[in-house]
Amino acid sequence: MEVFHELAEMGHERVLLCSNPDVGLKAIIAVHSTVLGPGLGGLRMWPFKSFDEALTDVLRLSRGMTYKAASAGLNLGGGKAVIIGDSKTDKSEELFRSFGRFVDSLGGLYITAEDVGTDMEDMELIHSETRWVTGVSPAHGGSGDPSIVTAWGVLQGMTAAVKWQYDTSELGKRSVAIQGLGSVGYYLAKQLAKEGAKLFGTDIDQEAIDKISSEIDIEIVGPDEILEVDCDVFAPCALGAILNEKTIPNLKCQIVAGAANNQLENERRDGKALFERGILYAPDFVINAGGLINVYNELGGDYNRERALRMTRGIYLNLMGVFEIAKEQGVSTAVAAETLAERRIERVKGLGSRHWGRFISANGR
Ligand code: NAD
Repeated sequence: MEVFHELAEMGHERVLLCSNPDVGLKAIIAVHSTVLGPGLGGLRMWPFKSFDEALTDVLRLSRGMTYKAASAGLNLGGGKAVIIGDSKTDKSEELFRSFGRFVDSLGGLYITAEDVGTDMEDMELIHSETRWVTGVSPAHGGSGDPSIVTAWGVLQGMTAAVKWQYDTSELGKRSVAIQGLGSVGYYLAKQLAKEGAKLFGTDIDQEAIDKISSEIDIEIVGPDEILEVDCDVFAPCALGAILNEKTIPNLKCQIVAGAANNQLENERRDGKALFERGILYAPDFVINAGGLINVYNELGGDYNRERALRMTRGIYLNLMGVFEIAKEQGVSTAVAAETLAERRIERVKGLGSRHWGRFISANGR
């Protein structure tokens, strides 16, 4: 019964348990909201230790997608899926095709994409069974790797935060510490280097460090030191929950603006702690929406990178709106971002019955 209580609290519309013992499939699809459009969100493959752990993850992540799509102004709801398994040893054609049939059974209420543990090849297998999948190969009308667009969006958001905090948009005069030099961190570092920013970076993977160090001027620090680097902007591009009671008191930056999902260990508590320290926090689901905007552009069937980048520029204004609301209401930017997203959903909910069927049929793949 606790599960139903949790679903009611979080407001999920539908949760589908997907079981196919013949191919070893154990998956959960969570559709949080379809008020603004179909619930789009990635498929995570992870060796969860228990069903409860997998369920908690998929419920939290799908709700996060609702907020991300709403604040980016997209006609999308929020959904997410998890496959319980090890992405290194448990992948097979049958597994992903079987998962694709479950996605198809929802008739477009949920659209899947890549996430941790899944890649374009897996999306291609899912695409054999359903058209409700994004992140497929460019050869099939897909948009390919979203990281470059995510990084571009983070750059727009960082520019907004710098303008708000220093009254100048010039990133070249700023110092930025990047945690995680993987897909997004790499592109972000390259773009910031072009602007002339002073860069610090860290990673636990030496290959990632060597790659970026051979291309741009960046001062590498240890993984434990990055949070305490004396800089203007801290850009988390690795893990979630890195901003918490332990780390926030030691930060030496004026701004937090990066790509990682779920940066605050506790939304309310840690958002407030940053606010009270005068550190401007660019809420993660607003600043990292570039990847979602990118796959959204696939849905019409005529993906265009230029258009995706143009739409991603909107993150600058979206964040300015969040900063203004936070200032007006004297609340943290984390609270302001949630308020803005919820307002949009409530307004559209007020329209009554849903009309995004037209949008769905436009996805002719
Ligand atoms: P990635 O796996 O390519 O890169 C992450 C990097 O962080 C890796 O190089 C890894 O070695 C490093 N790392 C892990 N733990 C670390 C630690 N303790 N200290 C320092 N470095 C560490 O992932 P990505 O695609 O670049 O995504 C980065 C973050 O942004 C993730 O939180 C992801 O959920 C989020 N995000 C990514 C996208 C996208 O388009 N890829 C979109 C939205 C949000």
